[in-house]
Amino acid sequence: MWTNSVDKALRERAEAVIPGGMYGHQSVRLLPDDYPQFFDRASGAYMWDTDGNRYIDYMCGYGPNLFGYGHESIDAAYINQLKKGDTMTGPAGLMVELAEQMTAMVTHADWAMFCKNGTDATTMAMMVARNFTRKNTIVLAKGAYHGAAPWCTPVRNGTAPSDRANQVFYTYNDVASLEEAVRKAGDDLAAIFASPIKHDTFVDQEDPTAEYARRARELCDEKEALLIVDDVRAGFRLARDSSWSRVGVQPDLSSWGKAIANGHPISALLGAEKARNAAATIYATGSFWFSAAPMAASLETLRLIRETDYLERTQSLGQRLRKGLDEAASHHGFVLRQTGPAEIPLIMFEDDPGYSKGYAWNDALMKRGVYFHPWHNMFICAAMTEEDIDQTIQIADDSFKVVRESGALPPVEKLAILGLLADGH
Ligand code: PMP
Repeated sequence: MWTNSVDKALRERAEAVIPGGMYGHQSVRLLPDDYPQFFDRASGAYMWDTDGNRYIDYMCGYGPNLFGYGHESIDAAYINQLKKGDTMTGPAGLMVELAEQMTAMVTHADWAMFCKNGTDATTMAMMVARNFTRKNTIVLAKGAYHGAAPWCTPVRNGTAPSDRANQVFYTYNDVASLEEAVRKAGDDLAAIFASPIKHDTFVDQEDPTAEYARRARELCDEKEALLIVDDVRAGFRLARDSSWSRVGVQPDLSSWGKAIANGHPISALLGAEKARNAAATIYATGSFWFSAAPMAASLETLRLIRETDYLERTQSLGQRLRKGLDEAASHHGFVLRQTGPAEIPLIMFEDDPGYSKGYAWNDALMKRGVYFHPWHNMFICAAMTEEDIDQTIQIADDSFKVVRESGALPPVEKLAILGLLADGH
């Protein structure tokens, strides 16, 4: 029987000592009311909350969990290096090996810099582009997430208008709007930023069209600006190379994080030869950026990426899930909007302007042991099994029944603060 009294008590205590009770997208404030905020442990494809409830976790830590929580050989590499030395006065020699391996695996990359969070890597990418071009304007897709620094955070509180100076926006996959944004940047274009797929929250995901990706490349070449693909979330989940290798387009810079060490804290900026000097002459560092243990974990993760069928496996598990959920939904008279690559699924309901069906369904799934997200893309990890997927589909079926039997539900009020309910999303 699902219970949440321990979580509730922790949330009350958190209210007193953590601003807002929790921050960032790790706050469950915008999820169905009973979603657990705190977790106790995780193993393979599962995590347990502080009340002891087990979930098949389709959020994978918001991306890092690629091979399974607590993966034996990755964690052994981490612990082994931790015992030898982690955060020292300088990096361990294996930093060079990690850079060699990343640049060998990612076609466009000739050099690598390591940092801690995805935001570090996207911010450095912007700086390298500005240093390379000696220009300021960056062109970005509207609604795309590139991190939580003042220049890119989706919430403006605490930022100055000048933090956003020199930015022009386009619509993902819309070539005309990309061209218009580049025209607006005039002779000040430093970079075009692109997400590897459109993976914004609350809207359907989209694969990039080859036309859009190629045009972004051409425009950067014409203007001598740099093309940046932000592979922090999707990196190595869609390809064993940069994600735009799928559309045959090579960026100049790419940012990585999340899954590159299966959850151990490390991110990276990779770049092409022409941007090497620009990268060497920005000032970038952090107290924990050179820690050796996450680098050891990353080396083992990269080996598994090269040597296992994790990619084909997560793809086929994702397709099995997608098909099963569509079938279960139709039994109950629902139509799902399942968008994006099957291994990075986003699942919402057709005809659900107030998100009420989605919230009720996710709540029912969660209380039966499946952790889904109602409006953010999810992730398939290689530790999941066919049985996990089939069990998920069964639980989803039961949860559709709950939604069907609850009749008409009011719009999800907590989303009103985002202005999402007003414009009929
Ligand atoms: N870019 C993308 C595409 C992301 O998904 C994220 C994290 N969700 C970031 C950048 C920022 O990464 P981090 O939270 O590690 O700073």
